[in-house]
Amino acid sequence: MFLKSIPLFGFVYRTVVTIILAFSGLLIACNQTNNQPDAKLSKQLEDSHYLKHTMKPFLEDAGLTRWCEKKVLATRSLPLVSDFDALRVSTPGTLHVDPRVTVSGNGSVRMDTPTSLDVKNPSNRNYGFPEILRPLNREDLSDYNRFSVWIYVDAPGFYLAFAGITLYNEGEKIMPAPGRFEGQHFENVYPGKWQRVVWEIPDLYRDCVTGFGVSIMMTGSPVGASETMSLYVDDMRIEKVEAENSRGFDLRRDAIAYSHSGYKTGARKQAIVQNNKNNTFNLYNEKGDVVFEGKGQTQENGFTVLDFSEFDKQGFYILSIDGIKSKPFAIGDNAYLATAWRTLNFFYTQRCGYDQPGIHQECHLDVFCFHPDGRSLSVAGGWHDAADLTQGIGNTGESGIAILELAGAVKNKDKVLYERLLEEARWGLNWAMRTRFGDGYRHGGLVKGIWTQNIRGDKDDMQSAARKDPFDNFIGASFCAEAVPHFEAVDSVFARWCRNTAIEDFRFADEVMPERLARKAPETDIAALAMVAAMRLYRITREQSYIDKASHYASIVMGCQQLEKCTDWTIPLRGFFYESREKSRILAYYHRSQEHVMMQGLAMLLTDAPNHADAPKWKEACKAYADYLYDISKLIEPYGILPAAIYELDNTDYSSMSHEGPRDIGAPSLEEYNAQVRNGIQLSDTHYLRRFPVAYQFRGFHAILQGKAKAAFILSRLLGDKELKDIATRQMEYIVGYNPFAMSTIYGDGYDYPPLYGAYSGDVVGAVPVGIETFENDDEPYMPMQNNCTYKEIWVHTTARMMWLLAELFKD
Ligand SMILES: [Zn+2]
Repeated sequence: MFLKSIPLFGFVYRTVVTIILAFSGLLIACNQTNNQPDAKLSKQLEDSHYLKHTMKPFLEDAGLTRWCEKKVLATRSLPLVSDFDALRVSTPGTLHVDPRVTVSGNGSVRMDTPTSLDVKNPSNRNYGFPEILRPLNREDLSDYNRFSVWIYVDAPGFYLAFAGITLYNEGEKIMPAPGRFEGQHFENVYPGKWQRVVWEIPDLYRDCVTGFGVSIMMTGSPVGASETMSLYVDDMRIEKVEAENSRGFDLRRDAIAYSHSGYKTGARKQAIVQNNKNNTFNLYNEKGDVVFEGKGQTQENGFTVLDFSEFDKQGFYILSIDGIKSKPFAIGDNAYLATAWRTLNFFYTQRCGYDQPGIHQECHLDVFCFHPDGRSLSVAGGWHDAADLTQGIGNTGESGIAILELAGAVKNKDKVLYERLLEEARWGLNWAMRTRFGDGYRHGGLVKGIWTQNIRGDKDDMQSAARKDPFDNFIGASFCAEAVPHFEAVDSVFARWCRNTAIEDFRFADEVMPERLARKAPETDIAALAMVAAMRLYRITREQSYIDKASHYASIVMGCQQLEKCTDWTIPLRGFFYESREKSRILAYYHRSQEHVMMQGLAMLLTDAPNHADAPKWKEACKAYADYLYDISKLIEPYGILPAAIYELDNTDYSSMSHEGPRDIGAPSLEEYNAQVRNGIQLSDTHYLRRFPVAYQFRGFHAILQGKAKAAFILSRLLGDKELKDIATRQMEYIVGYNPFAMSTIYGDGYDYPPLYGAYSGDVVGAVPVGIETFENDDEPYMPMQNNCTYKEIWVHTTARMMWLLAELFKD
């Protein structure tokens, strides 16, 4: 995804003995204060030589492992080989019976397909998904809630492939939903081994099922790989199991929702259970001793909050209540340390133009960006942005800033992590600085969803047009400015290049801003980005002109804010922002989020120019936004996540909405918008506060929480307010376990993490998905087992935001 964010199509430990084994960590050379990393992180760091190789996940902690072990209450085979004549295949695939490659012992069906077509897709996306279809006679499958199948891929020269499962329904609602991402499930597939796919479908319409399809993505072939591949399918069934909870706020049965990444010293430490019989809970240390006993606080809907904030001793612990136990988590320095390393691992795996064993060969060497004057440059490098191979300055710049912010936070605490972070940041900096032409034009971004052969002149060529865009150049300037202090002492040559680039890019962006602001277009976040970039330039130059620029942009940002309380609302809110100074529509993000930049810039101004004539206004703007965060922070209990935005009925604009495929299929409508708005918390006849964004095709909302969390951390520090820090931290906790599904949503981090939509990257430790979504017009969490974009797609935007929230936690 880039800019508009285009996706690829976007136990419990039962005995003390086990507990002790789980804690027996290996010593590593990491300069960590007071504490040793846990055994799993230590092993990953040793095995990967501190990310000289990519990390491997611990599959015993994966949700998929638990799901595959579920008791099957009913099962029905959907015959393949024995009913071969009934099967259908879509071109260019050809279908065969294969008696040799089989997991059932009865033979499999095999589809052979080329990996590409003669002509590249104009969108630069994949060449298609040839499919084996198992037809069904318009059956009502409501008694079943899981699809299961075994697949095997033969694809010489490929590290990985991507398979899709489709439910076809023609009853109450069509599945797959036209123009939406419901009714299809995807799986990262590793050639040369059988993999079982399980897909629970309790939320999907299946009253008139006409078949199930199994397909494989035609990705083109990376250098040196086969031009054909084969997909084998065996033992297809529909089953009945006790389904995972997937919708609503009720907590998964027999589960504790807590922060799998742990709790820092001094932090609020809470967990939740629901429908428990007793409310006494215990905290066990690594020896199995009870170190804390507490009484849970009963809340509505059978929830009980377990609060152990007063327990602050460093170590690893397990929570227990009512016979249910958590898995080990850290209190103290080790809290979030594994998450930090793993998110860094994610970026390492996403390197573009790089030979990354296990993931891909060198890529992008034939992709060029063209300046209007005819010059061109290679765009290989940086990081791929999501499950496809797209990359651009927006996400690369933000990612690099996040890596550098985390580096700054651990600099004096963890030298090994610090230096590895700088190494990764430098990879992105090099790309950001050599994909510019030196006159304001630079490579903005390019969608790429196929492997190409690294040869110019063949069928898979693609290119981008350079652009002179203030967003691109402000991000580029911010990234390079943030790097200067880190490199000055160790590499003055590199630091000089960063400094000069930052100064130039700021100027290129700033000089086109009057024209940009004259347009009747949303202006809040571009002005806020300009303010932050100006302050970053001030910090490396100490030139007053940058304070002047920042204060100019601050006045625009503040002009977009609601300072007075809306006293006629049921909750009299203030402090939120509109899209522009016209205040005709309240600012709401649904996919990407920049909600932190307004507070970030104002806080930087207040820190660096506290005696400026406008400082009282900046402070008032910050206090107003802090009020907004406070006032909305207790509306989604007991989870404590921050509602998304205020919406007005009949007031929306779809013109810049991201949408994959033909815009008229699955397109948004005002009727759908209003229905979603009305499911929010009513503030007045016209205004509602939605817990989750109004959204259509693109769903998944971690970034929306992360933007507000960053703002809350910044204001906590600025205003000396501990409660804002607790609010901010809670948004991170939701991502790593404190959610109704009691899962860490980050692949390979924490427990019960789901498979993610990885496609060209596969299963990557540390990948943060787009996020927990919503179902249809509902305003409650939805996290189906269905693995599809955009919500389950791995993404640098959300992973970077996790890193810059980690930076806030590690600063203290
Ligand atoms: Zn690449």
